[in-house]
Amino acid sequence: MIEARDFIRTRVLTDIDSGAHAQIVTRFPPEPNGYLHIGHAKSICLNFGLAEEAATHPGVSGLCNLRFDDTNPEKESQEYIDAIQRDVQWLGFQWSGEVRYASSYFQALHDFAVELIQAGKAYVDSQTPEQIREMRGTLSQPGSNSPFRDRSIAENVDLFARMKAGEFPDGAHVLRAKIDMGSGNINLRDPILYRIRHIDHHQTGSDWCIYPMYDYTHPISDALEGITHSLCTLEFEAHRPLYDWLLEQLPSLPHPQQIEFARLNLNYTVTSKRKLKQLVDEKLVQDWDDPRMPTISGLRRRGYTPASLRNFCDRIGLSKSDGVVDVAMLEFCIREDLELSAPRAMAVLRPLKVVLTNVAADHLEIIRTVRHPNVDMGERELPLTQEIYIDRADFEEVPPKGFKRLTLGGEVRLRNAYVMRCDEVIKDAAGNSTELRCSLDLATLGANPTDRKVKGVIHWVSVSHSLPATVRLYDRLFNDASPDRGDADFKTFIHEASLETLTDARVEASLATAVAEDRFQFEREGYFCVDLKESSPAHLVFNRTVGLRDSWGKPA
Ligand code: ATP
Ligand code: MG
Repeated sequence: MIEARDFIRTRVLTDIDSGAHAQIVTRFPPEPNGYLHIGHAKSICLNFGLAEEAATHPGVSGLCNLRFDDTNPEKESQEYIDAIQRDVQWLGFQWSGEVRYASSYFQALHDFAVELIQAGKAYVDSQTPEQIREMRGTLSQPGSNSPFRDRSIAENVDLFARMKAGEFPDGAHVLRAKIDMGSGNINLRDPILYRIRHIDHHQTGSDWCIYPMYDYTHPISDALEGITHSLCTLEFEAHRPLYDWLLEQLPSLPHPQQIEFARLNLNYTVTSKRKLKQLVDEKLVQDWDDPRMPTISGLRRRGYTPASLRNFCDRIGLSKSDGVVDVAMLEFCIREDLELSAPRAMAVLRPLKVVLTNVAADHLEIIRTVRHPNVDMGERELPLTQEIYIDRADFEEVPPKGFKRLTLGGEVRLRNAYVMRCDEVIKDAAGNSTELRCSLDLATLGANPTDRKVKGVIHWVSVSHSLPATVRLYDRLFNDASPDRGDADFKTFIHEASLETLTDARVEASLATAVAEDRFQFEREGYFCVDLKESSPAHLVFNRTVGLRDSWGKPA
């Protein structure tokens, strides 16, 4: 059921209760000129979510269309079309019927334009683009009429037909709505409906050399699809009078209700396809799905789950005024999901070899432990052998104050195993520790950790019974809270250390069966996901999704 938890749901509920609509139809209308980002996820969850909720009302159906708003062929491509469909489905939504394209309405849009011309509501303007811009006026100054505004209907019909037939070069003429050059709303100052572009289109090939503008295409596409509620971001509020004007001139069409909501802005993040494209084109990231990108495919590779993104969109809610959401909220949502869904495993990211001097060289002990402390996920086996790895960061010969890990002469518990004492440090010529000689207290396996006073608990893996892995530690891509604020190039805020690649990591043997997108909590390290593209059974590659706790901004 729809709950009246925001102004859009309240409005749709009113329309259901009043009997105005027995079918609620929404749409998600991306332009295929880039990959979807987290901002789009908000719009997807709203449009698809609302249709799903509406369908649970008795006697009411709910549908959501996926429509490519593809009126700008030079910036669009099939790669983006495919990626967008993949992302929507991955988020867990399915559009109603076939995928739709605004370009499949080109003929209808053309015919409605002729209808507008014949009703004296549109005209062909032959001024140059610069002249048109100059005559449009400003926010405080009204525009002035084009000298071509009073062309006869017959002449307009003829010129528009010849524009379509390809008789004129790009920019020679445009078709404009005839509304009001003195309007306080610039969008109503005879907006351009069609322009000439001699360019092939990814869907319609060379069928057209005139292309409709977004503001003209959108209301008519909505109407043709029987959209009831056309939900868009706030920047379109000033376009709503044009949306309504066009549909008022075309009485054969139904009239959807446009409702605006605030776009999602996230701190430390850029959400503009144009800017994300720059990062890709200038190779500042690997690709659109680089795990540092705020794209849906990047977040997916990073290890975010569909549920975490949907929960995030739910939590931020909808409002009528722009705000900035803390990216820590997004991180909270994935941690919350993985805490319960990710099995535990041990991975040593920066290995330091330890030889256990009081176990035999051929010692192989299988320690059984649970995959998850609170959720039944079965057990895993931890092989313990004479040589193990611990993390370099877990040993200090001369411990700094408050150090709770292994020191020379000190004791720690090996997680899930024994208490271990460090007896000797082996160093290289440069004085770096290369190996530790340690001994286990063999009476302590499984003993209650509080039985024994040890400094701390550290994780480990067997040298011979562990797997090599590459582990990529990702951090935020930007080191400034508002990289997009405009007073400096957003690229100057790129966080140089946003990727650290560890190629010598070792993971516990139970991960031998891990496949792409499997997610784990590496104990004491954070949440990690098997990379979708670059991992193989022979050499696993893990991406750090998020740390265990929010450590951003806190000193190391
Ligand atoms: P960008 O500025 O990144 O290019 P856009 O608005 O041009 O985004 P579209 O492909 O036109 O991208 O967007 C498809 C839908 O997603 C539109 O309805 C748009 O309003 C919505 N949308 C885009 N960005 C956001 C955002 N940050 N928050 C919420 N909705 C968004
Ligand atoms: Mg857009």
